[in-house]
Amino acid sequence: MISFNIPPYVGTELEFVRDAVESNRKICGDGPYTKKCQAWLEGTFGAEKALLTTSGTSALEMAAMLCDLKPGDEVILPSFTFSSTATAFLMMGARLVFVDILPDTKNIDPKAIEAAISDRTRVIVPVHYAGVACDMDEIMDIASRYGLLVVEDAAQGVMSSYKGRPLGTIGDFGCYSFHETKNYSMGEGGAILVNNDAYADRADIIREKGTNRSNFLRGQVDKYTWVDKGSSYLPSDMNAAYLWGQLQAADAIYDNRMATWAAYNEAFKSLEERGLVELPVIPEDRVHNAHMYYLLLPSLEERSKFIGHLKEQGIQACFHYVPLHSAPAGERFGEFRGDDEWTTQVSDRLVRLPLYYGLSKEEVGKVVSAVVSYFGVEA
Ligand SMILES: *Cc1c(COP(=O)(O)O)cnc(C)c1O
Repeated sequence: MISFNIPPYVGTELEFVRDAVESNRKICGDGPYTKKCQAWLEGTFGAEKALLTTSGTSALEMAAMLCDLKPGDEVILPSFTFSSTATAFLMMGARLVFVDILPDTKNIDPKAIEAAISDRTRVIVPVHYAGVACDMDEIMDIASRYGLLVVEDAAQGVMSSYKGRPLGTIGDFGCYSFHETKNYSMGEGGAILVNNDAYADRADIIREKGTNRSNFLRGQVDKYTWVDKGSSYLPSDMNAAYLWGQLQAADAIYDNRMATWAAYNEAFKSLEERGLVELPVIPEDRVHNAHMYYLLLPSLEERSKFIGHLKEQGIQACFHYVPLHSAPAGERFGEFRGDDEWTTQVSDRLVRLPLYYGLSKEEVGKVVSAVVSYFGVEA
């Protein structure tokens, strides 16, 4: 059986976890490994401020809380995304306005964003699907013309860039996930990049249960007290130690995933030329991180048969997302504005192939043969 995903493990992680437990004697949040990981993210991506969080979802919640939404304020996001993109803002009282994606990158359509803006709109949430950047110049331009905040859901976009700028560093806030299904992992975890200086202090407070503990630790105030709303968004330093092992091997993990992605892409070109499938599109001004390899089949029926065929060959393939606007909670808490030209059909037709750090060449070959054999053609 070839699994769809196996969590990344390079082999050094447990040594760092042991060090956190036995040498540092520090396993709560904001210990030495948390500091190292944050410094690494800031240094590598040129980010002003990176804070580790307990998940990508909690990074989005922090961003949503920082946006300071009032009930009825609207947030524009794609319908084709994971539920966390929506729930983070919903919990802060926002009205969710879903819009369509583009057929090439499957990312939010800037024209649909602008058409959906009302006098209640406060935030735009571009999701960098499959680690391929959204049209950030257009989105940032809309945000500045209408005075809106931008929260990048870069959960899938660690180590990707747009015109040379790392994803997560372009909007007011960028949110990463280090879940075990993502390129770099700590089991459950994430990070928020606070790119807009005006929010830097409040980010520390919200992450530390509404207290000014981090100012206190830096010696900036002489009392540590409750000053604002917040929650507990700090991960254990044991998890950060695991992530540290992964970040040390960031390039090796990247190269390994990219080799699989490139092998799939090369092997399936001829299928696309024959009009049998559509392959991912990476615009020239973007560098992606091989987070995902997907194909678009002609229809929902074809996709079901295709997944069944792969299963018979011992290969686990998956699909996602049920468009949020047609999910029960989406119907209750949001609305789709504009036309659903692509969201539902992409959701019906898209299938993801196994792609994880350490997937062997042989296994990639098996997946390729199984895919090609479905279409009954020579590769
Ligand atoms: C994974 C993911 C999240 C949530 O991250 P968690 O770490 O699992 O909470 C949010 N948005 C997108 C687009 C994701 O892929």
